[in-house]
Amino acid sequence: MKNDRSWTEIDLTNFKDNIDELKKFFHPQANFMQIVKADAYGHGAFQISRKAIECGAVSLGVANMQEGLLLRYQGIKIPIVILSPSMENEIEQILENDLIPTISTFDFAEKLNKSGKCKIHINIDTGMGRSGFNYKIALENINEIKKLENLEIDGIFSHFSSAEEDPEFTKLQSDRFEKILSKFDYLPKFIHISNSSGVITFPNKFTNLVRLGLLSYGIYSNTEMKNKVKLKPVMTFKSCITQIKNAKKGDSIGYNRTYIASDNMKYAILPVGYADGYDFLLSNRSKVILKNKVCKIVGKISMDMTAIDVSKVAEAKVGDEVVLLGDDDENITAENLTSLYNGLSYELLSQIGRRAKRYYKENDKIIDSSPLLRRDFMPKDFSDNKLGNIIETAIEQRLQSKEIANLVHEDILKRLFAEKDKDIQYRHNFKHSIKFEESKEFPKYFFTKTNLSFSKELQNDHFSVACAKTETDLEKYFLRNDVEYRWLLDNSVDLNEMFFNITSVKVNDIELYNEMKIADGCIEIKCYHHNLKDLVGKEVKFSISTKTYYPKSSHQLSVYIIEMTQGVDISFESDLKNVEAVPIFSGKSKFPKIVKSKNKISITTNKDEWVFPTSGVVFVY
Ligand SMILES: *Cc1c(COP(=O)(O)O)cnc(C)c1O
Repeated sequence: MKNDRSWTEIDLTNFKDNIDELKKFFHPQANFMQIVKADAYGHGAFQISRKAIECGAVSLGVANMQEGLLLRYQGIKIPIVILSPSMENEIEQILENDLIPTISTFDFAEKLNKSGKCKIHINIDTGMGRSGFNYKIALENINEIKKLENLEIDGIFSHFSSAEEDPEFTKLQSDRFEKILSKFDYLPKFIHISNSSGVITFPNKFTNLVRLGLLSYGIYSNTEMKNKVKLKPVMTFKSCITQIKNAKKGDSIGYNRTYIASDNMKYAILPVGYADGYDFLLSNRSKVILKNKVCKIVGKISMDMTAIDVSKVAEAKVGDEVVLLGDDDENITAENLTSLYNGLSYELLSQIGRRAKRYYKENDKIIDSSPLLRRDFMPKDFSDNKLGNIIETAIEQRLQSKEIANLVHEDILKRLFAEKDKDIQYRHNFKHSIKFEESKEFPKYFFTKTNLSFSKELQNDHFSVACAKTETDLEKYFLRNDVEYRWLLDNSVDLNEMFFNITSVKVNDIELYNEMKIADGCIEIKCYHHNLKDLVGKEVKFSISTKTYYPKSSHQLSVYIIEMTQGVDISFESDLKNVEAVPIFSGKSKFPKIVKSKNKISITTNKDEWVFPTSGVVFVY
């Protein structure tokens, strides 16, 4: 963050708390659809979707096919409803990606029906006056749509125009909707009308799904809402000071001299402007927070820069963090910033930080980030093919291997973009065998022998094997290219050579020396040999054998593949009955071969099959 010009922090814990708060208002049988249109109101559709699913969302709402497609590319599996009307030329991809379009005209329904089987939601306009069948003609249209044999009506919905401020009209809309529904002898699975404000102001019992947007992001739709529900903003927008300057009385600051210093003053330049989504209309109006003090924006906001008055912050210096939007102070909530120019929170949120990196937090810890220019990630004006070629060429250049470059896959993309400074390495002939034996000394554990071998280009004349008791401690070894083997040790045993050790480590036929170091909750074993120098840059065979103990009570053991790997053979041997293996593979073949014999279960792929990072297998016993 320190090196970013501006960034947003997305607090997923606050988001979850908001969902929990809103759930108190809808009746227990009701489900919710998380609205993630416009990149989840600028919060990041992928991460918000994942968290919402964790919180129980049964579906996601997006604005258009493209947004749904991106979520599918990112691996989101739950139903995705496209809320706005779709276009004819989008039908093919809607069907291919299992998206649910909203039907607002009979004409579109017919076209869709001709193209293939599809679930749909039908939109009835009960007074919003936007898309959807007008409520007066909805009934006959829906009856016609029911006859289209390829379409499955999964939901019928309507949308409030003013749930946050007009109870009378909201009731009228609700009554109209209920009345139409009463005329059907059979209702679809989902009936919905409430947006997040409606959940608070107009709870009802005849619908069974609500659509959560603005309030779930911790923004109040009006001031009265604050007395009814307690929400926490999810997004914080920050930047830092890049220059400190002094102005004399009478000096002007910024374009068109709209600010004239009324006294000698000190001001600071922030490297953000309206192109970063900090609205131009906030010029000379809004405030930011610097070291818990409120500082005014002075002059017009430029495309890429903004000036703030820091006269009252004596200690202000270059590099200091500045909060432009968020939770720290009433002055900088989205509601209050937009009230300065009669703007809309929805708009400000969805434009903020569009050039900025996002950091995702949970329980005050950063857990994830999205790269810069994330919105250009799958530009819609590239055909899939063209985009594929570009990425392929880029990968090809870095790996100098056309073969792998051909295997364009979202996991690689994610890794490339998220960890762009990391060298990409790959392994061949990956064999990992794990064997459990009874232990007399430690009857609650299995004595565990592991053998790992693979071929890979040797990077250096040494490498390491690492072991830790928590995932957080082990995590740092995943980022290190010089670590060839990682083991997660059970928390109940001691971290010493008794419970984890190398029995043999070889490169080709050379048995290496090894040296153990125990520090900071980790065992790190350095493996080296002077003869390795001559092999650097060449493809060699690594063989690493270890012994350790594994708790019987765990009932599962996972093996991960964290580098590009060609040809995989993972086996598990024991006297246990009923061992199952659950492979989670990404690559061309998602379902590797599982072979069971009396004591052993093996997961194998074809020798030249590429398996992507993030693959693995869980043995359950
Ligand atoms: C955007 C949208 C919502 C979410 O509304 P909020 O006011 O943000 O809760 C719900 N339903 C539909 C159809 C929408 O387009």
